[in-house]
Parts: sequence; C-alpha cells; structure tokens
Amino acid sequence: MPSRPELAALAANLACRRRLGLALVQGSPRELEDLLAALAPRREAASPAQENPAAAPAAPAAEELEQIQRQMGNCTRCALHEKRHRIVFGEGPAPARIMFIGEGPGAEEDRQGRPFVGPAGRLLDLMLAAVGLRRQEVYITNIVKCRPPGNREPRPEEAAACRRFLEAQVQAVDPEIICTLGRPATQSLLETKAPISTLRGNWHRFMERPLLPTFHPAYLLRTPERKREAYQDLKTLVRALKEGAP
Ligand code: SF4
Repeated sequence: MPSRPELAALAANLACRRRLGLALVQGSPRELEDLLAALAPRREAASPAQENPAAAPAAPAAEELEQIQRQMGNCTRCALHEKRHRIVFGEGPAPARIMFIGEGPGAEEDRQGRPFVGPAGRLLDLMLAAVGLRRQEVYITNIVKCRPPGNREPRPEEAAACRRFLEAQVQAVDPEIICTLGRPATQSLLETKAPISTLRGNWHRFMERPLLPTFHPAYLLRTPERKREAYQDLKTLVRALKEGAP
C-alpha cells in the first residue's frame, strides 16, 4: 500500500497530466506502480549535499563541473559569443541519473544564465512532474551554451566548437540515461539527418550511454497534439531507470 507522501506525489502527477492535456490517459496499475517505484529510490539516494548543498563539501563531480566552467571562461570559440548576454552552462546535481540536452538557450535563458527557464522550461517541469521526476533531480544543458540569435538552430560548426564542453559535462555528471530534447540536439549528438519523428522514443547510444530522444518542449507548445508521444517517451525513460536501459 503506498504511503501518504507517495499518494500525495501521485496526486500531483495526475494533476500535472491534466494540465498537460493528458486527462484521458488511463494509468494502469502497472504504470502507477512504476511512478511510485521511480519516486522511492531517489528519496533514499538523496544525499545531505542535495538536501543542503551549502552544508556539505563539493562532490568530485561538482568540482569537475566547476573546473569545466573555469576552462570555458568568457568563451569566444565560436561566433555565438558575439550576441550572447550570458553563457548558459547547465544546472542540476552531479552525479545525476538523467541528463537532458536541448539545442541552445533562448531569450530568457540568455538573460538569466540558466537553462530551460522560459515557457518551454515551464512545460518541461510539468512533463517531468507528470512522470514523477523533479527538476532538481536531473541535470539539464544544451549542445551550445550561448544563444543563437533569433532562436535559430545552432550551426554545425558552433555545435562542434562547444562539443568539448558538453562531452566533459557528460563525463562529470555520469548519467545513466541521456534524453535529448528536439531534432537539432538529437541529430547533432547522433550525427544523423534522420527525422526526430523516427528517432524519438527509440534507444540510441552516445558516449557509450543509452540515449532516448523526445520532442523539445518548445515544439510541444506549438504542436500540443504531440504531447502524448512525449509523455510516452518519458514513461519509457522512467521505466528504464527502474529496470535498466537497453
Ligand atoms: Fe564558446 Fe560554446 Fe558559447 Fe560557442 S556556444 S562561444 S563554443 S561557450
């Protein structure tokens, strides 16, 4: 029998599903068990540093991320530095079981220096909550750390210039699963031109880790009828956390 906090978390998940327009999705008992199981181990794994980061010394992985950021400095390795206001390095715990990778910062991210804080970020938070994940538990970054002007896609040479930082982040965060958000990030990491509609929801490999692509939340804001597929992808991700990714 689920505990009271677990039931409260489940109620929050269902509320999020409703806000996402997924009210008609029927959760089977198995799916609900998966949601609850996905919640339990993370609570047990919460370290004192996660509860109160200021009270504990920095973990080696966090120190590694700080070192990467220092190496990046006031980076001018590609043309994107010319119009950016702030470098958006990424954020989240390290190590983290899941790492989300999008294509690049938008206007609000460029202003705040944080990833996924605009409308797309708010939808991402809802999507995570719908499958029992919290933003504080996952690491989030982009393939380029500076905003492409006018929110255009990052160019291949820009992604290539920034790749060393992304790969170093993956090494430091050491995720069990990588989830790419949207076509540009997925095609860049997998070095393919295949459409996102065929890549999403299927398992791939990046840096010897399982990678599951799904739609970018900004795309889902414009195309809400694809939310259901994104929800299925995140359920696949949560199940892989519990049972192991292929
Ligand atoms: Fe440097 Fe990456 Fe920004 Fe280009 S996008 S300037 S490589 S930090």
